Amino acid sequence: MTYETVIGLEVHVELATRSKIFCACPTDFGQEANTQCCPVCMGLPGALPVLNRAVVDFALRACLATGCRVSQVTRFDRKNYFYPDLPKAYQISQLHQPIGLDGCLDLPDGGRRIRLREIHIEEDAGKLIHDPWEDVTLIDYNRCGVPLLEIVSQPDLRSAEEALAFLERLREILLFLGISDCRMQEGSLRADVNISVRPAGSEKLGTRTEIKNMNSFKAIGRAIASESRRQAEWLRQGRSVSQETRRWDENKDASFAMRSKEDAQDYRYFPDPDLPAVVIDDAWIERIKASQPELPAAKRQRYQAEFGLGDYEVSVLTTDPALSALFEQTARLSGRPRDAAAWLMGEFLQAVKARGSRPDELTLDPAALARIIGMVEAGELNRTAARVVFQKVLDEGADPDTAADEAGLRRMDDPHALRQVVHAVLESCPDAVLDYRSGKRQAFGFLVGQVMRRSGQKADPQQVRDLLKATLETD
Ligand SMILES: [Zn+2]
Repeated sequence: MTYETVIGLEVHVELATRSKIFCACPTDFGQEANTQCCPVCMGLPGALPVLNRAVVDFALRACLATGCRVSQVTRFDRKNYFYPDLPKAYQISQLHQPIGLDGCLDLPDGGRRIRLREIHIEEDAGKLIHDPWEDVTLIDYNRCGVPLLEIVSQPDLRSAEEALAFLERLREILLFLGISDCRMQEGSLRADVNISVRPAGSEKLGTRTEIKNMNSFKAIGRAIASESRRQAEWLRQGRSVSQETRRWDENKDASFAMRSKEDAQDYRYFPDPDLPAVVIDDAWIERIKASQPELPAAKRQRYQAEFGLGDYEVSVLTTDPALSALFEQTARLSGRPRDAAAWLMGEFLQAVKARGSRPDELTLDPAALARIIGMVEAGELNRTAARVVFQKVLDEGADPDTAADEAGLRRMDDPHALRQVVHAVLESCPDAVLDYRSGKRQAFGFLVGQVMRRSGQKADPQQVRDLLKATLETD
């Protein structure tokens, strides 16, 4: 029998607000342990939470971008569980009246529409650091009270590929909304994956297991493939899958049962008596709508219509907000969008990759790149020289004109000087000249290379070819 995999995702996203959700502590990542805490986020008795309005603004942005119905009244509930990463012994979350319901997200390339069950707001827990050498567990409460959105899909995904495409799409939207940095390696975006299998063609859902806290695309893809194989194998053997929470072991490339899966009633949810309901009126929604940034899907369409870019260029340029902003500014300043795209997707992204960084971590002045594009277009720089100038602009923040002059990179456009170089090359390479004249065409390329080298790469290659050919044929 063949089985179909059914996947639902619960995606946790840390919001990029400056302060935490219920207190004024900062949310900066990577600070010294337990230095960004106060009585509220440490759960000390008597401390009272005050909701950060920016969290609701950010949540509304996510709801509007994913077509969720916004709750006019949204409330917070306490989710009770005992674990050392949670000093209050409950997490403030939303069960009964989440901020957004019934949204959707379209998979790329005309893919299916995946339904979202809800988006709710909650607080993050602290971080446990297990030290196997000392046999102790350390607790860092800096992350306690960092605002999270939990975005819950319906079980509409059917393969690891679809789940990853969904996550990519969601990540793009959140990045362009500017509400999260979505850095999986820092834990700003993590996913719980619910997986079940059922006989192909069946409508009834099988028993699901949940693999918790996955924080890399690679792990998520492998975990889904491995877990759906395991479940199908069990069913084939006539065993039943039990509802449980599993842990993915990256090194063993397999998941292991942690505990039987909890249901909502296990958490004894109840409305948080310390936090009043939040009333979201039309004016609030309109204000968010009016300031909503352009989303990647709209950007892609506009780039094709306005700049005449192809599918591939458009898809690369809209993966990152910093990259797309650079592109738009350079395209406008230079008036040459295709060149701007080529430079950014080529030289710029190569530099990003070589440094192991992100586009927003490199400083590139779009006006400087536009100037380089202009100099190439005007024939003042050839491609090789332009790349050298670009590196100087990127590495040193150099002015492109100064960099070109200082490095002597301006094109040799004096025909007399070029003719002298051509003659000098022909005199010093008599063998190549003979080869060329006896019909060995590759000798021509060699001679072009020699002239370019002697000109300090400043000559225009086409002009060199023309002049060489004319000289070889007349002399
Ligand atoms: Zn605090």
